Amino acid sequence: MSTLVVVGAQWGDEGKGKVVDVLAAQAQVVARYAGGNNAGHTLVVGGKKIVTHLVPSGCTYPGTLCVLGAGMVIDIEVFREEVAALQAEGMLRGGELRVSLDAHVIFPYHRALDGLREDRANATGKIGTTRRGIGPAYEAKAGRRGVRVRDLLLNNVAQLRERLELNKAVVDAELARLGGSQHAVDVEHLVRAAAGWSEWLAPMVCDAGELIERALGEQQRVLIEGAQGALLDLDHGTYPYVTSSTTTAGGACAGLGIGPTRIDAVWGITKAYTTRVGAGPFPTCETGPLGQAMRDAGHEYGATTGRPRDCGWLDLPALRHAARINGLTGLCVTKLDVLAALPEVKVCVDYEDGLKPGVDGFDRARPVLRALPGWGDPARAAALAKARRLEDLPTVARAYLDMISEYTGVEISLVSVGAGREQTILVRDAY
Ligand code: GDP
Repeated sequence: MSTLVVVGAQWGDEGKGKVVDVLAAQAQVVARYAGGNNAGHTLVVGGKKIVTHLVPSGCTYPGTLCVLGAGMVIDIEVFREEVAALQAEGMLRGGELRVSLDAHVIFPYHRALDGLREDRANATGKIGTTRRGIGPAYEAKAGRRGVRVRDLLLNNVAQLRERLELNKAVVDAELARLGGSQHAVDVEHLVRAAAGWSEWLAPMVCDAGELIERALGEQQRVLIEGAQGALLDLDHGTYPYVTSSTTTAGGACAGLGIGPTRIDAVWGITKAYTTRVGAGPFPTCETGPLGQAMRDAGHEYGATTGRPRDCGWLDLPALRHAARINGLTGLCVTKLDVLAALPEVKVCVDYEDGLKPGVDGFDRARPVLRALPGWGDPARAAALAKARRLEDLPTVARAYLDMISEYTGVEISLVSVGAGREQTILVRDAY
């Protein structure tokens, strides 16, 4: 097996960064296929915290090629800052970074539109976006006026200018309506900025699909990293409270330019409980002290925005939905240690009124919760964080994992019991 896709199986923030970092030890290429700097992955390597927003989580391994695919939207300034920060920490110094020529570019006017729309929306219209311009950049892409990385290169200036003019005609009118005309598209300023980026980008641009095909031809292992989570998928998530891209495994093919037959396995990541940021349905949300206990124990504050995440119980029907739409062949359960803070654990096994994710009325879904014994005494909690094999886990925690696997019909592949790279139980070989 050579190609493994790893995706979020909930509403994002499942710990993809850590899991990809662990699995990347076995891969030669790590590629991202969707989203932009609305993602935020936190890796803890040797006790040191590393946060990435655009660069795939393979960046901690010297020599591992990190690829940003065509399905991504890239804010070049943010990208440059992130790469500089990682290089200052000793990473990506050997030219390990590649960017698809076909990835789309986020400009300041996308950010302005994103923020102003959220500001002006009434309570039900707010999506709770990260205001980083992701949605407007994808809109421009679907509207066939997007600017791609290839347009930033110096020999494409005429095309870049033409594209920006096209955007100006659409964007300035909306900005004026929203009261933000100071952010109007300044074509010449952006053309000059692009000239500055061009030189920096030129050595890393690529055709990501071709690159992966070549790597597979040389028997290399490719790890494909999703962003956000299944229930934020534009088509199959809790629409309209979703992100603007395909977060599910199918997006890996479109977003990288490889065929479905090139994918060998798909692992979905779920926390042992559930969190959500932004607006939209979250049936198992605990708004009281239990939710706060999970937030505190799990440090549930966004890596990108610092926003506190809503916390609640594991939602098994939603996870089963995620397993189906991704064709999951393995499950990675993270943050099992966080539940050790609780005397009792609950899981959602159904919803009242026959509701299910993706149907109208899901925002009113009331969960049917089953209570399970917790593993919440200090001795067990400490032991849990040190577990390196399934057998090291308390019996109740193992029963919890078995129940998740049985309900979803997907085998457990990996269990994470702490933020550190070593706090991982690899149940099955990734490749
Ligand atoms: P991502 O976007 O899916 O990578 O998730 P985030 O990075 O936003 O959130 C995951 C957070 O949980 C990070 O701060 C990780 O360091 C941390 N983390 C990952 N796995 C575990 C785990 O098993 N236990 C604990 N306590 N923290 C974890």
